[in-house]
Amino acid sequence: MDSKGLIIRTNSPNETQNLAESLSPFLAAGDVISLCGDLGAGKTCFTQGLAKGLGIGERVTSPTFNLIKEYRNTLPLYHFDVYRLKKPEELYDIGYEEYFYGEGVTVIEWGEKVSSFLPDVYLRIELKRLLEENARELRITYRGERWKDVVEKWKKTDKRYSTSD
Ligand code: ADP
Ligand code: MG
Repeated sequence: MDSKGLIIRTNSPNETQNLAESLSPFLAAGDVISLCGDLGAGKTCFTQGLAKGLGIGERVTSPTFNLIKEYRNTLPLYHFDVYRLKKPEELYDIGYEEYFYGEGVTVIEWGEKVSSFLPDVYLRIELKRLLEENARELRITYRGERWKDVVEKWKKTDKRYSTSD
């Protein structure tokens, strides 16, 4: 990762969704976001906020059993959950390149499982449970200038961020 990154704490699912929603105006075709963190960390919750921000009315659920769910939209959303992949190479079977380098935004839950398939430029968000029940820490890092700019702009829309070392 290039970046020092950001760490943001949220205190409810709603806050996580709002944070994701505030990222969506900066997104464009071909963007890839890797979401990392344990089951229940909030990866799907984050994706729901992002979808809302993109103007997707459909309910977003975890695509764990289908691996990929496509939401048609002006800017489409390709929602992957690769938790159940036995090996990253299975991505070939679903023609992952059509998505990762396609016309929409790709979000990959458990992206670290397919790290060798991620493009050179992507945003990584690691979600972690904190001791308090509804609190989460989001650690945001990235590769590539594209995301440096986006994160700068995104940051300005949120007062709660702190920069990590
Ligand atoms: P994942 O996709 O990482 O397995 P989900 O988004 O499906 O996780 O589930 C996260 C769960 O944690 C949901 O039940 C959600 O309501 C709950 N939750 C509690 N606090 C938060 C928070 N601050 N951010 C996101 N989810 C939270
Ligand atoms: Mg999930």
